[in-house]
Amino acid sequence: MSLPEAFSERLEKIVPREQFDTIIRTFDTPKRVTFRFNPLKTTATELEAELAREAIPYERVGWDILEGVYRIDPSDKLRLTQTKAFYEGRLYIQNLSSMIAPVLLAPEPEETVLDLAAAPGGKTLILAGMMQNTGWLSAVELQRERFFRLCDNLKAQGVTNAHTYMTDGRSVGKKCPLMFDRILLDAPCSSEARFKTFDEKSTSYWSIHKVKETSKLQRRLLLSAFDALKPGGKLLYSTCSFSPEENESPLQHLLERHGEHLKTIPLTLPFDNIQKPLERWGKEIYDERIQNAVRILPTDTIDGFFICLLEKI
Ligand code: SAM
Repeated sequence: MSLPEAFSERLEKIVPREQFDTIIRTFDTPKRVTFRFNPLKTTATELEAELAREAIPYERVGWDILEGVYRIDPSDKLRLTQTKAFYEGRLYIQNLSSMIAPVLLAPEPEETVLDLAAAPGGKTLILAGMMQNTGWLSAVELQRERFFRLCDNLKAQGVTNAHTYMTDGRSVGKKCPLMFDRILLDAPCSSEARFKTFDEKSTSYWSIHKVKETSKLQRRLLLSAFDALKPGGKLLYSTCSFSPEENESPLQHLLERHGEHLKTIPLTLPFDNIQKPLERWGKEIYDERIQNAVRILPTDTIDGFFICLLEKI
């Protein structure tokens, strides 16, 4: 199976030309599996001892900005998911680019934090860990089935500061204006970065029409997040899509409406497979503040991702 032709053609115009062939090949093989210890239930040292007892070979990722992150070969994934540590929530399997988003938002204990599109809850878990299960963490999810999965996950992982809401994130800004110190909007997207040529289902829902429809939803979610944010508060916008319609464009829309109250914050990431956002796409020329965002390019371990950190001024 191959990638949708229109997707590949667009990707070629988005990523650096000289890296296109390497990037396209990353869709052909399963990514190495990464996971993190759950600080609400154990320590990194204890988890390492547990993995050694189970004879699971792991490698430390060794980031300064987040401790206790590990990598294993995809062939060991099944065994990892059969360990007690996995069942009892002492580790959580998650791609590295997904771990980075909540870390860059950097919530602190006792803050009021909103995760506006939260299920299945991998990023909510990191937020709760950074907040040391204190303060107030609202987790919103619209889809019923995913909402219950979110609730189950948070319970299994020992999260006690989260308040879960099955509601439309687009309505939250009006219901809770100026309420949150930090907001994560890991937006629903076309999931282009999760495409796999060996999994037909991963691409079957994709079309340019879908990308454009999703872009409209993302714009409205961003406006809602802006309304819910306190002055001085921080908002992190992320997607696992490459499309500018889902990344630069919703941010452009937000800056056109509320630009005088927003600045973007430059980001430092613990890896170098990143690219600056586009300056233009089609007829759109993007606000130069968007240049502080990053597009993470996929590797054999890291999923493609897009991240922008904003502050309300
Ligand atoms: N942050 C999650 C994590 O790391 O586990 C992944 C979030 S996923 C990219 C986006 C989520 O937004 C999906 O679960 C989707 O069902 C949900 N969603 C879609 N439309 C929404 C809306 N209008 N309001 C709130 N959530 C929505």
